[in-house]
Amino acid sequence: MVNFLILAKSHNASQKSRGVEIFWCYWGKSGNRKMIGSDNPTPDKFSNIIRYHVMFYNVEITWYRINHLFDTLRPNNYYFFSNAMGILSGSRNLVELFTNTDAFPTESSKAQTDTEVSVCELYKAARDKNINTIKLNRESHIKYVKDGLKRLPSYLVALDASKPWLCYWMLHSLDILGDELSQDLVEKGISTISKLQNPTGGFGGGPGQISHAAVTYAAINALAIIGTKEAYDIIDREALYKWFLKLKKEDGSFVMHEGGEVDVRGAYCVLSAATLTNLVTPELTAGTAEWIKRCQNYDGGIGGEPGIEGHGGYAFCGLAAMEIMGKTDLLDIPLLLHWATSLQMQLEGGFQGRPNKLVDGCYSFWVGGLFPLLEAIMTRNNFEKDVEQRNFEVSQYIAQSLFDREALQEYILIACQSPKGGLIDKPKRSADNYHTCYCLSGLSTAQHHVVYDFEKAKEKGLDSGARSLLWKDEITNRIVLGNPNNLINPTHPIHNIALPKVRKMIEHFYGKRDF
Ligand SMILES: [Zn+2]
Repeated sequence: MVNFLILAKSHNASQKSRGVEIFWCYWGKSGNRKMIGSDNPTPDKFSNIIRYHVMFYNVEITWYRINHLFDTLRPNNYYFFSNAMGILSGSRNLVELFTNTDAFPTESSKAQTDTEVSVCELYKAARDKNINTIKLNRESHIKYVKDGLKRLPSYLVALDASKPWLCYWMLHSLDILGDELSQDLVEKGISTISKLQNPTGGFGGGPGQISHAAVTYAAINALAIIGTKEAYDIIDREALYKWFLKLKKEDGSFVMHEGGEVDVRGAYCVLSAATLTNLVTPELTAGTAEWIKRCQNYDGGIGGEPGIEGHGGYAFCGLAAMEIMGKTDLLDIPLLLHWATSLQMQLEGGFQGRPNKLVDGCYSFWVGGLFPLLEAIMTRNNFEKDVEQRNFEVSQYIAQSLFDREALQEYILIACQSPKGGLIDKPKRSADNYHTCYCLSGLSTAQHHVVYDFEKAKEKGLDSGARSLLWKDEITNRIVLGNPNNLINPTHPIHNIALPKVRKMIEHFYGKRDF
């Protein structure tokens, strides 16, 4: 089997006249008929059929990252079709995937090499075994989380100001692992969270603490996961809305708490919670999209505020907030995609949060979670163009996956599972609830292809709650690395809660929806 890569540039006259130059790229294994539909994708045939300029590289593609293509081509539009690639399935020697370092090692280049060495050892060992032995240790992760719920380990006492976060991380982990929440847990969760709500609106990190946007987001998500009427009804929506408006500044940004710092997380946390509780209004969102646009940098990343370096967590918050408002067009999406793809590590397969930083399991979601949103945005944009062009051939092959879903699963399953249960940042670290939650959320994002139903989205005037319900798990496009039982539940690309829990809460606060 020859691995191949095809890049094609459009010479379509009507597109050119509108200033659109389209590059196509396909990669995979030759003979895979899915690649370009009904024809075997030999470059000759491909070229003849669409009379595009074709470059053909007879190369091993598993190591060849999407961002290299962007760097070379800088096209205006992207069309992708990628199968899972993975690190282990490549025939390339793992050692060749190490980051090139020059003769002057620095602290950070040494740390990078150390990380690569430890990941490489694990990959070498895994490569020699049957693929089915790559297993998600579901039971031990469930036990880890449940033990934590019973009695938080002593080091977490410092996180007393983050009780709703702990509730959310733990409940979400159990939920996507498929563990049924016990009645006892449900009651405990509701009583813990209800004590943290302030009469002036919002939730604090501990009893008597002032309300905080991030903590409120976590509290609302935790209540959504609990998913009972009793849980929903503890939310004082009127006070919550008034408090949201107090966090809002004139330029459209949000502070994290009254008198606190401005941060793009504020916008996301407020808008996600407001979406789930039916509190998104023009008053709440006025100017926010324009402010978030200013947080995007020259390299495509999104920083915490204008002028600050892009970061995985901020980028997710910025993009998800834009998606809630239906304002993603204000961002430079191809540039953000370029930035995001460049953060998937060549050897490790996981993501770093910023360029030149180490891989970290939690970015499996913060950066990995950008892709379902980006794929939806690009598919939607192309779909709108297709209506005009009636070019269905194009729409079939768009945006199946814009990151290496298999490689990310390899990193999470082989390098991020603590033998004692729970998941970790990188090898040799110990597990915590934060990394357990976000490694699992990233795993879910890589296994499932959660897509946006843009046919239904064409209905005019959909509120943000309705738009949140348009995400669905495309069952035919799942990729489950290793043992088939590794499949966990799909998570919502905006709220990071299991899909049915989002639906239930939205139907509670908005009324029954037909889709
Ligand atoms: Zn981390």
